Amino acid sequence: MSTLFISHGAPSLVLKPGKTGTMLAELAASLPRPDAILAVSAHWDTQQPRVSATPRPDTIHDFGGFPPAMYAMQYPAPGAPGLARTVVETLAAHDIAAGIDTSRGLDHGVWVPLMLMYPHADIPVAQLSIQSQAGPRAHYQLGQALAGLKTGNVMLLCSGAITHNLHDFFTSDRDAQALDYVSAFSDWMGEKIAAGDVDALLDYRQQAPGGTRAHPHEDHLMPLFVALGAAQGQAIRYQPENTYGILAMDTYVWH
Ligand code: ZN
Repeated sequence: MSTLFISHGAPSLVLKPGKTGTMLAELAASLPRPDAILAVSAHWDTQQPRVSATPRPDTIHDFGGFPPAMYAMQYPAPGAPGLARTVVETLAAHDIAAGIDTSRGLDHGVWVPLMLMYPHADIPVAQLSIQSQAGPRAHYQLGQALAGLKTGNVMLLCSGAITHNLHDFFTSDRDAQALDYVSAFSDWMGEKIAAGDVDALLDYRQQAPGGTRAHPHEDHLMPLFVALGAAQGQAIRYQPENTYGILAMDTYVWH
């Protein structure tokens, strides 16, 4: 199972893909083409884990204040109800109760990067929700359970942000150099991921420089912990850019 953590940036990444878009397209081309994708997005946050089994998921435009073209965009990938049921069974075998959702569409944390990676929208996608109130360890355990997923050639695509402070996003000079904490935090994460230091990563709010400033809310980092729990082998880090001086666009791949 190829496992990815993607920093999806602002929704308008799809209009101005830049270095990140090029990196994502090249990355997708370099990986074995999956038969299905299980996506874990920061933008589906529920009290208990839920898995989408919608046969034809809608494209959800879950953002405000963007150009009209963004609201017309469609990513008509088929759903993956069979994969969704296997995920629920696999989690249940690890004492994690997950519900099935047969109407949930694809949020922009999923379709924006997928549109850049697989623009033909021809790979079936199911989504698994996060529970941001449950914190890093619960998501790491969710990932560990998914490592036992006994199904074909599935890509686990975890989509969030390595840094995500929206107050800084809206108050900083977007053309300025990245704020110091953005690089310090993302580099610290990179070192600990390379070293496989899970204990330090789970305690990032205490140990990482700028931990709480990089993530005033934890939702966008939770998909990383799912990836860390599921991943096997060494991570490859891609650092295409820091967008708006605030959002480091780091992507990690374990393959
Ligand atoms: Zn987001």
